[in-house]
Amino acid sequence: MSLTGHLTARIRADGPLSVADYMADCLLHPKFGYYTTRDPLGAKGDFTTAPEISQMFGELIGLALAQAWLDQGAPAPFTLAELGPGRGTLMADLLRATRGVPGFHAAMQIRLIEASPALRAAQAKALEGYAPEWLDTADALPDQPLLLAANEFFDALPIRQFLRAGGGWSEKRIGLTDGALSFGLSPAAPQPALDHRLADTQEGDLVEICEAAAPITQAIAARIAAHGGAALIVDYGDWRALGDTLQALRAHEPADPLQSPGEADLTAHVDFEALAMAAKTAGCAFTRLTPQGVFLERLGITDRARALAAPLQGEALDSLAAAHRRLTHPGEMGNLFKVLGLYPPQTTPLPGLNP
Ligand code: SAH
Repeated sequence: MSLTGHLTARIRADGPLSVADYMADCLLHPKFGYYTTRDPLGAKGDFTTAPEISQMFGELIGLALAQAWLDQGAPAPFTLAELGPGRGTLMADLLRATRGVPGFHAAMQIRLIEASPALRAAQAKALEGYAPEWLDTADALPDQPLLLAANEFFDALPIRQFLRAGGGWSEKRIGLTDGALSFGLSPAAPQPALDHRLADTQEGDLVEICEAAAPITQAIAARIAAHGGAALIVDYGDWRALGDTLQALRAHEPADPLQSPGEADLTAHVDFEALAMAAKTAGCAFTRLTPQGVFLERLGITDRARALAAPLQGEALDSLAAAHRRLTHPGEMGNLFKVLGLYPPQTTPLPGLNP
């Protein structure tokens, strides 16, 4: 059996799938899922991410979180967590950069929230010498101060898509046409969860909701609000989503999301407003959504690049300059990617971010 065979049987038995059900099977099916079965990152993989582009990314995230910890009186012990750590590169860079922060390593307990056995193995290797604990969900985080990073995690969570039509909303679904997977629409119906979008959309507009994002954000925000700490969430997306952003990437090229399920990465833009509102409900403050390029510049990425560049020449120097540009330039990742910070009310917001 292949994932296509499994999906076809599922549709024959139960009818068309929501985009979320489809994404969930494609990414995390225990036997055929994209993340569950492989390491998709890097030059030979399907996509690359900021921590894989340069060590500077994880270092600066680490120093920003460590500064927030110092600003809050260096609580000990605390959980140092990451959502969806991929190959463990960001965490490894963060740990190296924070070695000089007095007391930080002694007080930290590393917890990684990761669904993929293949990537858990890669993380164990990258973090040899540390003793991370792996958790299945953010709900399992202990009740203690929490410093957390999440890069390109929320974009991998399943989304549902709705088209505004006939006075209500039609859900986009995946069914079968002549035996092949194809998109269709459910009959229009009211969707109370989309009432807040009636004012800013019109007939024919498509909106996306990510039902998994709010409970995860609330679990994190509740710990930060109650015990202190901070979270840095980095992803592509914006304050409120409009339009179809479902995207498949295979071997660094855009692909048809219904072609070769389980063989391509599937993502959608993150609706940061939904994350911020979930954090607020849990009693947490949130920063202004800030472009990644602006955030990294404020944290001193250019000084860091200069220091790393000093001993380099030729190709190594060019590739460092290219990495700096890729992370920060508005025409590359600098503007598409955004940063949201969560922090306890009545404390200073995180470095590089404004309330
Ligand atoms: N943060 C890494 C990897 C991004 S890819 C980087 O920037 O390079 C997305 C990561 O989230 C992968 O590690 C994937 O296995 C994990 N993931 C996706 N959905 C998940 C879920 N529902 N629960 C836990 N981890 C998940």
